[in-house]
Amino acid sequence: MQRLIEAKKIGLLGGTFDPVHNGHLALAKHVIQTLQLDSIWFIPASLPPHKHGHGDGLKISSFTHRIAMLERAISRYPRFVISDIEAKRSAPSYSIDTINILLQQIKEPADLYFIIGADAFLEIDTWKRHKELPNLVNFVVISRPGYPPDKVGEVIRFNFTDYIYDPLHEIWRSKHSRGLFILQNMEPMPVSSTEIRKKVRGGKEIAGLVPQAVEDYIKKRKLYIA
Ligand code: ATP
Repeated sequence: MQRLIEAKKIGLLGGTFDPVHNGHLALAKHVIQTLQLDSIWFIPASLPPHKHGHGDGLKISSFTHRIAMLERAISRYPRFVISDIEAKRSAPSYSIDTINILLQQIKEPADLYFIIGADAFLEIDTWKRHKELPNLVNFVVISRPGYPPDKVGEVIRFNFTDYIYDPLHEIWRSKHSRGLFILQNMEPMPVSSTEIRKKVRGGKEIAGLVPQAVEDYIKKRKLYIA
């Protein structure tokens, strides 16, 4: 008799992570707990399609530095994993391609949860073949200060027209696509990589915004100075 294998629930958290900060960690901890995921993969973009340099005039730190900071940040969390999938691909890297490659690589049955902050989600209509994404993954959209939940609903309604909102579960479903849009409210963590880079450049303290080991790395390697 064939045994039923339960699909693994894998969260995907893509980003620039320049640097990874406590907001990213709070986000990952919140989602892994509330959705009972088996693991979360942090996927640093080699060169994000939407960001060639940071808007603040600084260049994006090397992939090696960003991975090194991630390694230090997640070392205490056994269910957090780093994927270097994007390093092996020629830039620019698009989510649809990354997800398709991941799906080929994952050998066991898996449900993917694409975790994204409301700020990044509002730009989804600029992503390559974005309308196909809900056939491949569930979306977990996290509130972020300054980005009203109504706007997220508007973006879903406009781009994914067959989706209907279930207010009880705060989930959008479709009859045609497998993927769900799951809206999650999280205790706001008003921290961003931009703010951290700015503080370091201005000689200000970043204690409490990033894990200690990441702070030590930034200082030792003199990142974000110029
Ligand atoms: P930057 O300031 O350089 O734009 P960032 O702080 O937004 O960077 P990213 O690496 O671009 O960090 O973010 C990766 C993902 O994490 C995105 O989906 C983003 O929305 C989300 N995210 C980042 N910071 C937070 C936070 N404080 N609260 C909730 N989500 C966050």
